Amino acid sequence: MNIDSIRNGIVIDHIQAKKGLDIYDALKLGELDCSVAIITNARSKKMGRKDIIKIDKSIDLDLDILGYLDPNITINIIKDDKRVKKFHVELPKEVVNIIKCKNPRCITSAEQELNHVFILTDKEKKTYRCKYCETVKED
Ligand SMILES: [Zn+2]
Repeated sequence: MNIDSIRNGIVIDHIQAKKGLDIYDALKLGELDCSVAIITNARSKKMGRKDIIKIDKSIDLDLDILGYLDPNITINIIKDDKRVKKFHVELPKEVVNIIKCKNPRCITSAEQELNHVFILTDKEKKTYRCKYCETVKED
């Protein structure tokens, strides 16, 4: 694939420099059967350095994971060599099975089948609390 252009697919732009691989892993892009390019340390007027991921296929992205990992990311949807859509991800209001509750007395510790659900309780501070025991997610 020509890494400068993709005909139909997705460009994930403005990823924090050196975080491209984390995004790649979190989205399980290695399991796709299409070309995926990660460009690291690209020059950016806005950010100095950034990472970019180009996916040579239209897939359903998990925007919650992306928004949680890096709310500054921009998504570009490419169709027939043209950018047809560009949008920013946002901090998700709720994340499921991305973070695990560390409180040993939380019901999620006892009930292995339960989803780990965290709710965004403070957007400014990016505070997430466990839905069950309200434990704050630690960084
Ligand atoms: Zn909990």
